[in-house]
Amino acid sequence: MINLETPRKFEFLVSQAHQVATEIFRPNSRKYDQAEHSYPKELDMLAAVIDGMNEGGALSGAGAGSVGGNGASNGAKADRDGNRNGSNMASLLGLIELSWGDVGLLLTMPRQGLGQAAIAAVANEEQLKRFGGKWAAMAITEPEAGSDSAAIRTTARFDSETNEYVLNGEKIFVTSGDRAELIVVWATLDRDAGRAAIKSFVVERDNPGLKLDRLEHKLGIRASDTANFVLDDCRVPAANLLGSPEIEPKRGFSGVMQTFDNTRPLVAGMAIGVARACLERTRELLSEAGVEIDYDAPPFTQSAAASEFIAMESDWEAARLLTLQAAWMADNKKPNSLQASMAKAKAGRTGTDIALRCVALCGSIGYAEGDLLEKWARDVKILDLFEGTQQIQLLIVARALLGKTSSELK
Ligand SMILES: Cc1cc2nc3c(=O)[nH]c(=O)nc-3n(C[C@H](O)[C@H](O)[C@H](O)COP(=O)(O)OP(=O)(O)OC[C@H]3O[C@@H](n4cnc5c(N)ncnc54)[C@H](O)[C@@H]3O)c2cc1C
Repeated sequence: MINLETPRKFEFLVSQAHQVATEIFRPNSRKYDQAEHSYPKELDMLAAVIDGMNEGGALSGAGAGSVGGNGASNGAKADRDGNRNGSNMASLLGLIELSWGDVGLLLTMPRQGLGQAAIAAVANEEQLKRFGGKWAAMAITEPEAGSDSAAIRTTARFDSETNEYVLNGEKIFVTSGDRAELIVVWATLDRDAGRAAIKSFVVERDNPGLKLDRLEHKLGIRASDTANFVLDDCRVPAANLLGSPEIEPKRGFSGVMQTFDNTRPLVAGMAIGVARACLERTRELLSEAGVEIDYDAPPFTQSAAASEFIAMESDWEAARLLTLQAAWMADNKKPNSLQASMAKAKAGRTGTDIALRCVALCGSIGYAEGDLLEKWARDVKILDLFEGTQQIQLLIVARALLGKTSSELK
């Protein structure tokens, strides 16, 4: 049965992540929010520290290499009660702390990236060795395919003479696309064969067929680069296809979609981290304004601000518990697609709601650049959008609960 306390073996990881968030992320938060597209060089040192800790075994088992995303591989042994707390839980707990610091900087941490979750979800042993530990972005979205990822048009043609796949198409909104070492690109082997023909391919960032078109300017997470690419006869070795090269209509989309079961709880965790930052700062400001919160008294007997704060905290806790459940299920090899979408929907919405309500409660202080609250309110919105929007998560939940297929409930 799930135990909701932080596993003792991850306490060190959580405290390290919190230290990084406090000492590196927070002091640089505003700087890279204002200097969009400039590379946060302070993070290079951090990557070296994380590598050092991995090599020294200080974080072994705690998934340090996955603090930002490699959520699937899980070598954890079960405890006496049969529970496993592996890299999904470690990643989640680390990400919550780091996002409390700055989610934009987290998203641009070297050698991390959501592409690693895609690799871990479907790669074979040889690929895991070759690509593991590298900074990997994930490129699914195209101008004509956002929420409906089955509609992607990028093609992958097998060239039997060179034993390579040749990719052609356009990918937009790729997080860390300019800075990552690898990009996991979704492409179809046969446009007429539907979802089952969609596969993911690992493309080296310096592949001459992968051409950077532009970087986006954004509402939030400005420290993180968001790149648009053209794939122009982009050749990758056949061994860079992740999973099976066969088109298996029965398996449909399941191969590539497994990625989301690992990444959605992590994105939910990011929203939980940002929302916690908002709540903590708001509590400080309320306290300075003389508003005290009494947890022993019913909320309706307290000031409107205190009552609203307590309501936000309980909503936050609900989101956190759902997210822990989704990560725990992944570590314990339980199918978690439904719970991953529930967690993402709940945490994405709750994070956005809490951030805006905190801005409102703190008035002009919350809205001005003198404080980070306004930035967090901008940053958090993306967590309710990428890796599947709020509406798409609810659609997935509805399909699962009603037993409908994607063609029956659109
Ligand atoms: C900063 C940023 C970073 C990103 N990073 C990445 C990345 O690293 N890799 C990547 O591949 N993509 C990335 N994306 C893309 C992101 O995943 C898509 O923007 C998202 O999936 C939505 O797609 P769309 O923008 O085309 O919107 P659309 O799919 O056009 O949706 C528009 C609206 O319609 C709603 N909607 C759509 N279909 C339905 C439906 N069936 N029922 C109800 N409502 C529906 C949506 O919820 C949304 O509100 C990123 C986007 C941003 C903004």
